[in-house]
Amino acid sequence: MTSTEIRQAFLDFFKSKGHEIVPSAPIVVKNDPTLMFTNAGMNQFKDYFLGNRQSPYPRVADTQKCLRVSGKHNDLEEVGVDTYHHTMFEMLGNWSFGDPALPTAGYFKKEAIAWSWELLTEVLKIPKDRLYVSVFEGDEKDGLPFDEEAADEWKKWIAEDRILKGNKKDNFWEMGDTGPCGPCTEIHVDCRPDEERRQADGKTLVNADHPQVIEIWNNVFMQFNRLKDGSLQPLPAKHVDTGMGFERLVRVLQNKTSNYDTDVFTGTIAAVEKITHKKYDGSDSKQAIAFRVLADHIRAVAFTIADGQLPSSNGAGYVIRRILRRAVRYYYSYLNYQQPLLNQLVPVIAEQFKDVFPELEQQQAFVRKVIKEEEESFLRTLEKGLKRMDELISGKTAGTLAGKDAFELYDTYGFPIDLTRLIASENNMTIDEPGFEAAMQEQKNRSRSATTVDTEDWQQVHAEAPVTFVGYNDLNVSTRVIKYRKVKTKGKEQYQLVLETTPFYAESGGQIGDTGTLTFGNERIRVNDTKKENELIIHLVDKLPADIDGPVTAVVDLEKRLNTTYNHTATHLLHAALKEVLGAHVNQKGSLVAPDVLRFDVSHFAKITDEELRRVEMIVNEKIRANIPVVIKEMPKEEALQLGAMALFGEKYGAVVRVVTIDPHFSVELCGGTHVPQTGMIGLFVIISESAVAAGVRRIEALTGPAAFRYISEKIAGYKQVGELLKTADPLKAIEKLITDKTALEKKVERLEAKELVGIRNELLQKDEIINQVNFIGAIVEVSTPDALKKLCSDLKNHLRDFVIVLCANIGGKAAVAVAVADTVVAAKGLDAGQVIKQQVAPLIRGGGGGQKTLATAGGQEAGNLQQVIDAVKKLMS
Ligand code: ATP
Ligand code: MG
Repeated sequence: MTSTEIRQAFLDFFKSKGHEIVPSAPIVVKNDPTLMFTNAGMNQFKDYFLGNRQSPYPRVADTQKCLRVSGKHNDLEEVGVDTYHHTMFEMLGNWSFGDPALPTAGYFKKEAIAWSWELLTEVLKIPKDRLYVSVFEGDEKDGLPFDEEAADEWKKWIAEDRILKGNKKDNFWEMGDTGPCGPCTEIHVDCRPDEERRQADGKTLVNADHPQVIEIWNNVFMQFNRLKDGSLQPLPAKHVDTGMGFERLVRVLQNKTSNYDTDVFTGTIAAVEKITHKKYDGSDSKQAIAFRVLADHIRAVAFTIADGQLPSSNGAGYVIRRILRRAVRYYYSYLNYQQPLLNQLVPVIAEQFKDVFPELEQQQAFVRKVIKEEEESFLRTLEKGLKRMDELISGKTAGTLAGKDAFELYDTYGFPIDLTRLIASENNMTIDEPGFEAAMQEQKNRSRSATTVDTEDWQQVHAEAPVTFVGYNDLNVSTRVIKYRKVKTKGKEQYQLVLETTPFYAESGGQIGDTGTLTFGNERIRVNDTKKENELIIHLVDKLPADIDGPVTAVVDLEKRLNTTYNHTATHLLHAALKEVLGAHVNQKGSLVAPDVLRFDVSHFAKITDEELRRVEMIVNEKIRANIPVVIKEMPKEEALQLGAMALFGEKYGAVVRVVTIDPHFSVELCGGTHVPQTGMIGLFVIISESAVAAGVRRIEALTGPAAFRYISEKIAGYKQVGELLKTADPLKAIEKLITDKTALEKKVERLEAKELVGIRNELLQKDEIINQVNFIGAIVEVSTPDALKKLCSDLKNHLRDFVIVLCANIGGKAAVAVAVADTVVAAKGLDAGQVIKQQVAPLIRGGGGGQKTLATAGGQEAGNLQQVIDAVKKLMS
């Protein structure tokens, strides 16, 4: 079976068991402060487990793009070194979301276990004698017994001695420090040849990091909620959450000993062989690891960029940059390839995955460009790092490289410690390893203390109920608090409140969160911000009201919301106008919709010209004046795409989407933000800047409504002031004239000065004295710049042989000196202009200077000693 057929077989199997097949969520996570990237299939369903929402389908299956290079799961350093951990991988999953109201819709241990067995052994035909399963042995501290139920279900299918007991670490799954959790059962496959299998019993190798005895599937049974104090509470509804590593499954079914020998990766590896003229031999050599690293990392980097996360110097962007740099280091050091390589692989994987994850193929040129520029810039850094390394070890033939230097190479130049170690050992040096470790640890501590958030348990005030957002139409409602909790970030204490009904828009889709007030009786509390945690709307306040379980009036700050809304609708107009003016290739790459400004990032490879900006501005303002109604409708996603809605990659949408249409022929977008009913309300739109943010991404900043008007009126006032200053009604013309006049004057002054210098030069030639067969000219002259002294010196050179010249000037009360010495005199007498300036001249004029042996200059505070300067130099000649 090909990998494509295997993926399909999984999905078809669960479809036949009543599961709805859903698309992968983006790999980049939004609206979840605890997670940067999707690291498990269940992430996109967190709300269902937390009880914030009920799933529209009780049973779901999919293949999910996952990335495990940050936070709780970080496999980065293993990747490529071993053959079965990836940065990005596909997790095949099936779910049952329990609903207390519909107990028969879902399923639990019995069905999950039976189906996983049926799929693996009946449909996919994995030999039963190669499989082992593990079940949770129980945990005394948590008061949890052995998972008898799971064990009993397994006994129906598999020999009892293949059911192993696993501890809390391997067989009890938790979402985080707190939250839903439960026992799990893992399925392991023994892929060793028969001969080896006879020699050592497979069950002794399960969970022992054996490269051929690997875990392929984990079935989690969510039945508890972990509280902050560590205790466990039963969940109101039980859920099934499973995850199977797609690449590992393919490897088992294709009878390979390494994931990289399957058709998931062989295409990329062949492409790398062609580019580098090297062969992949599947060994443990650095060269073979480099092949695996490239085949793996290009997927992670390309798909995250396609999902909207650009490489950058912090947060999620930095994680991507680190993966990319690891790949560059490997091809640079071990494939001996010193040009951008990764970007050349983008077309290969775009083609390979176009039917499963089309987002890459559709943005291929953009993704490739971003990767190429990152590679180029890091290759330059690497070169610089190698130079720095040279400096650090230069002159030494043996010894130790300080820990802090190794850390600098790591931190500033991206050198992994093993590369530094390698170069050091080539120079018979070692690294101060404990010193390096200490520097690393210190950095980790710094970044940890900057980001720790201490979150307490939710305190329930009223019964849990689905939160209703009414803020599209109402900005003032009466409601009550459902629950609250305390959070501490960087020592600052805040409370998060959840309201039953809320008019507050929570930050999302680029639009900032609302602020406003909550009034409990006589007590009024500010809402500082509104955020989403998954789908839960959270209001941030500094203190709790005395009467938290009483009625509350929630009121949004009106003016701020209105200005934000103008900017949001204008952002849609801007997006459509950019497509009209620049072409269909432009796509939104991020946006900020705030009350005072709107910022829009767009994929485009060149600077947007002033002319193009003006046309965009004109179109948007025409659409505003046309006062077009903004029509908002909810509909299934497929229907929206047929209407031509701009589907923004990297946005996670439910089955039903909100479509915002401003003239069906102009702008149709999926959007959850707030909008004006008619475009005329926006009033006015001005672009205030255009700049580059990243490779192939341009940023436009613009203003609307009152802010746009203020901006223009201030500009006009400034222009009027200029006119008053120039005493004209047409400042532009007056300034043009001023500039022309100034250039003409400068030219004239230059000519006059040149003439004057010729006169001075002739006078100086008259003063020439011969001292010990050398021409000496020493004089105080009248010039207006130190540069004129230099010019005079060079001019005099053309008229003299064997000379020493010292020219001084008092320029605005300060001393300027130039000393020139002929080559012949430098050679014969050992006179050096630079030394003369430093030793004789500088002290006399209380200043400093320097230059060449033949010409040097100085400037100083003391202009009264110029004659002494001449005398001192003259004295050197006798
Ligand atoms: P392992 O112990 O092998 O790292 P895990 O316990 O971290 O696996 P889970 O979190 O249970 O794995 O994830 C479910 C499945 O996803 C695993 O059974 C495995 O097949 C797959 N998987 C996990 N991590 C990776 C990875 N880094 N690369 C590829 N597949 C993975
Ligand atoms: Mg793991």
